[in-house]
Amino acid sequence: MTAVTALLVWRDSCHFDHWADLPCVLCGSPTPLRSHKKEPVHKVCAEAWNQANPRELGKGRFVSDAQTRRTKNVHA
Ligand SMILES: [Zn+2]
Repeated sequence: MTAVTALLVWRDSCHFDHWADLPCVLCGSPTPLRSHKKEPVHKVCAEAWNQANPRELGKGRFVSDAQTRRTKNVHA
């Protein structure tokens, strides 16, 4: 099994619309959450969609926030 559970990291405030719940593009239930492309979508729905559409992953429809990296940079 090579099931990759890719949980999205949506901590940025841009993912939360304080003003309106809109129908999720995937399940149709209202959600205040937004993707990076401003699509109304539940985080769990986006994660499930990513799992169901692995070939779309590289196209960046639903992606995690850029994370602050603690990896060491080997720049001099
Ligand atoms: Zn949904």
